[in-house]
Amino acid sequence: MTETVEFQLSEQHRMVQGMVREFASREILPRAAALDRTGEYPADIIRSASALGLMGMMVPEAYGGAGQDAVAYVIAQEELARASAGVQTIVTVNNSLACDPILHWGSEALRRRYLPALAGGRSLGCSCLTEPSAGSDAMALAATARLDGDSWVLHGTKIFVTNGVEADVCIVYARSGPEPGARGISAFVVEKAFPGIRVGKVEHKLGIICSSTAEIILDGCRVPRDNVLGEPGQGGRIALATLDGGRLGIAAQAAGIARAALEDATRYAKERRQFGHAIGEFEAIQWFLADMAVRLEAARLLVYRAAYLRDQGRPYTKEVAMAKLFASETAMWASHKAVQIHGGYGYVKEYNVERYFRDAKITEIYEGTSEIQRLVISRQVFGRH
Ligand SMILES: Cc1cc2nc3c(=O)[nH]c(=O)nc-3n(C[C@H](O)[C@H](O)[C@H](O)COP(=O)(O)OP(=O)(O)OC[C@H]3O[C@@H](n4cnc5c(N)ncnc54)[C@H](O)[C@@H]3O)c2cc1C
Repeated sequence: MTETVEFQLSEQHRMVQGMVREFASREILPRAAALDRTGEYPADIIRSASALGLMGMMVPEAYGGAGQDAVAYVIAQEELARASAGVQTIVTVNNSLACDPILHWGSEALRRRYLPALAGGRSLGCSCLTEPSAGSDAMALAATARLDGDSWVLHGTKIFVTNGVEADVCIVYARSGPEPGARGISAFVVEKAFPGIRVGKVEHKLGIICSSTAEIILDGCRVPRDNVLGEPGQGGRIALATLDGGRLGIAAQAAGIARAALEDATRYAKERRQFGHAIGEFEAIQWFLADMAVRLEAARLLVYRAAYLRDQGRPYTKEVAMAKLFASETAMWASHKAVQIHGGYGYVKEYNVERYFRDAKITEIYEGTSEIQRLVISRQVFGRH
């Protein structure tokens, strides 16, 4: 089979890019610094994003989504993150960690009940996998689910849940059988309105400040028997497949942060004068900018390729791990250099680059740390799956 390699966006993808870029620069960018300062949940921005179809981008139109492909999705995520990684975190989690598993593993009844509201912005989703003793080793989770008549009864504490404060719908992973590791886990769709679920501690963070991160406590939470995704015992598989999609959004987020760093640093290098010259005339600064541009381009190509493979229905676990690893390290490196190019002004809040630096760090941590991405990649390289 010959594979074509296209290095230009389709008409449709360019339209999505133009639409989201315009929205992000008009409605998000002017407020990004204030959102970073206050940590306020940007409800009106999320409403506008929903109206543009950004909350359920890959959900088919039949379920109220935008029916876009994964390439369109990553293009949109880069544009949103270029303006505010905090806002984009809210959006990407709803898309990839809430809509996606319901679409791919939910019964028809669950899809009809939850997707139109999640994709249409009438409800917000979150994903509850991590626990105090199960982070990178997520399959060691200890939350339990036991059948009692027509309900599952859930107990356990989930931590670091993005959108945890505002979410109406939570995808909860809990141990429903005696089998160890992934095999004993099931995935449930849990409404915040169900009895026995509540928000616990809310975290104060280094970056992505307007995206809430909270503990979710399940204390005898009763969930209808049919609100299980796939079959009982498939939750581990569902979590891992969902994480591949999640990593796509985070890799694109990292590319967006790196682009913001490059664009702001380039502008500053033209404006700022020292020793009678714009600092961009100094070779040291030019080399920083050149390296930032190269790494950003490489990161974006990895992101697009992972998205393309997903659109082809082909395995993309290794490729998306590569994209997330490289893009997140690029975001961290590029934002660090952007602060350096701004000198003292890079360290204060008058400019946005210190925000990019703080926001970039999370991309190396959530949805699998960089060490875990290297583990995933090396297992595939060595042929151990
Ligand atoms: C802001 C934020 C938002 C988040 N959102 C969500 C969410 O919405 N839902 C959710 O379920 N979780 C969420 N998380 C959790 C996140 O995915 C975990 O924090 C992450 O997977 C790492 O787990 P941990 O924090 O327990 O670190 P640990 O697993 O304790 O890791 C500590 C260190 O050890 C390293 N390490 C661990 N195991 C290995 C190994 N085998 N080989 C080499 N190094 C290793 C790690 O790479 C890391 O450097 C979020 C976290 C944050 C901070």
